[in-house]
Amino acid sequence: MSWLPTLSRWRHRRHPAVRFLQDWLTELGYDPGVSDGVYGRRSESAVQAFQRDQGLPVDGRVTRPVWDALGTALAFQRAVPEEPGEPVEFRIVARDEWGARAPKTTRPLLKHRPIVFIHHAADPRPAIAGEFREAQKFQNYHLDTKGWWDIAYNYLVTPSGRVIEGRGAGIRSGATKHENAASYSICFMGDFHYPVNEKPSDASISAAGQLIRWLIDHEWVVAEPEILGHRNSRFSRTTCPGDLLYGRMDDIRRAAGLEAIR
Ligand SMILES: [Zn+2]
Repeated sequence: MSWLPTLSRWRHRRHPAVRFLQDWLTELGYDPGVSDGVYGRRSESAVQAFQRDQGLPVDGRVTRPVWDALGTALAFQRAVPEEPGEPVEFRIVARDEWGARAPKTTRPLLKHRPIVFIHHAADPRPAIAGEFREAQKFQNYHLDTKGWWDIAYNYLVTPSGRVIEGRGAGIRSGATKHENAASYSICFMGDFHYPVNEKPSDASISAAGQLIRWLIDHEWVVAEPEILGHRNSRFSRTTCPGDLLYGRMDDIRRAAGLEAIR
């Protein structure tokens, strides 16, 4: 989301980022009017109210610090209440349960028992009732817009701690450029990077760890697999899986019963 520009009412009567701005202000309880993508007087007033509340200069200009403050405010607003104690019971939601379409084709992994890459969707987290719909949305996008042969990921992990079967085990993924023949891809729903900055839920960290443990126990991956962020791939220039999820890679390793590396 680093493309988000500095917005001002006079220069940006219309810009795609204005709709983000309006949606986010509305979600935070401000009143920018309808989300029409037009940065008019009402949107400007809402930005000024937000700036006032945040102790920022009240000039109605949406600069990088304002986007940043919006992202942080949203992250708090959207944080799933943590209930420590009860671990989520591990279960893989099969494709027919979440309404997956058939893949156009499949190809097996070339390397037996490969490594695991962690991704994020870079799309704000869905509510629990919308998790399957979100998976369908990704699959439609990957099949219809991108022209890929299925949803890109082997598995998806949801904020509530569900594990959703994407391409599944033993199948080549489509999420990690030049690494797909020899790796699994696990994608967390949510956007864990600037400026949205959602915090990964403990339930999702636990679920990903249990999934990796399941892959190990069923010998789909080696006993002590490398668990890497997408950004660790030398073929990709990406912030994926986002700073806030990348900061929890060791928690994922621990949840899988593996040793932390940092
Ligand atoms: Zn990624």
